[in-house]
Amino acid sequence: MKYVANDKRYQNMVYNRCGNSGLKLPAISLGMWHNFGSVDSYENAKAMILKAFDLGITHFDLANNYGPEPGSAEETLGRVLKKELKGYRDEVVISTKAGYGMWEGPYGDHGSKKYLISSLNQSLNRLGLAYVDIFYHHRPDKDTPLEETIGALDQIVRQGKALYVGISNYNAEETKRASEIAKDLGTPLLIHQPSYSMFNRSVENGLLDVTEEEGMGVMAFMPLQQGLLTNKYLKEIPEDSRAAGTSVFLNRNDITEDKILKIQKLNVIAKDRNQTLAQMAIAWVLRDKRVTSALIGASRVSQIEDNVKTINNLYFSQSELDAIRTIITE
Ligand code: NDP
Repeated sequence: MKYVANDKRYQNMVYNRCGNSGLKLPAISLGMWHNFGSVDSYENAKAMILKAFDLGITHFDLANNYGPEPGSAEETLGRVLKKELKGYRDEVVISTKAGYGMWEGPYGDHGSKKYLISSLNQSLNRLGLAYVDIFYHHRPDKDTPLEETIGALDQIVRQGKALYVGISNYNAEETKRASEIAKDLGTPLLIHQPSYSMFNRSVENGLLDVTEEEGMGVMAFMPLQQGLLTNKYLKEIPEDSRAAGTSVFLNRNDITEDKILKIQKLNVIAKDRNQTLAQMAIAWVLRDKRVTSALIGASRVSQIEDNVKTINNLYFSQSELDAIRTIITE
């Protein structure tokens, strides 16, 4: 049956302006790092993309190496864009990145112009698109002059292969320098993509101040700390969870007693707010107005439905914030 998008999709989502730009992004964006590769069920991946779009999530985040196999998450979105989302290209914001190892040899990693431009060309092929909306340098590369990396981003925009560009995983100082170079070139950096959650607050040590000063938006990735900040691990490690699977980024040893105790305490506050813990974790990231969007992952449609309901309660009282702070800093 032909897919027709939900005609109420824009009614409940909040759209935040990205830094000083003209672009608005949904308060919740969907990342395709896990569960959208060629090893995963295509039907499940497609169902999640379409459910997200139906719920007002207009932004899908990728990187050249997302899969596995590396590149296959872009192919998955490319398939959906070609068919179900064919008429909706101008209603979605698609981002991809390069910066980690993607292919053998000296040109498939890091931050050279050679790598970034070749990689984006490959991404566009996999996505079946003429341009992406946002292209990121995925991580800083201290061995390549920053002028070359940021110059490549400027060139990519001028070539029309990305509408906007950004950086990811750069620290405060690197971000300041990168932004200054980009402004001098006439292509200001739209956005920074750092990790931010109740369990990882390193951006609070200066990075968020710099992004604000520079007029950049913030796409906070991993707001659920890969699922830890949900009700998933409250009692045990479910067999169908990321921690029980083959991910090298989260395994059983990461689910420590200390973390479970904190999750249980946070869950009590979430319940008092009539929210799931996942919803509270997303709302907590969004409470800082410098954060444009919380970039979630999901393994099934029901998680996206759960997470989008965050929008119904983004408000925190001071006593709630204090109680959360005590738990996460103790
Ligand atoms: P999250 O912290 O949102 O974790 C997502 C995982 O949490 C899901 O796969 C699922 O795990 C679980 N989950 C989600 N919602 C719920 C829910 N409502 N109830 C119970 N469990 C839930 O983020 P990710 O680690 O997936 O990262 C999100 C995105 O951030 C990536 O896809 C990518 O786009 C971006 N990213 C960027 C990086 C960078 O360097 N720039 C690095 C890492 C991520 P389960 O599979 O166990 O069900």
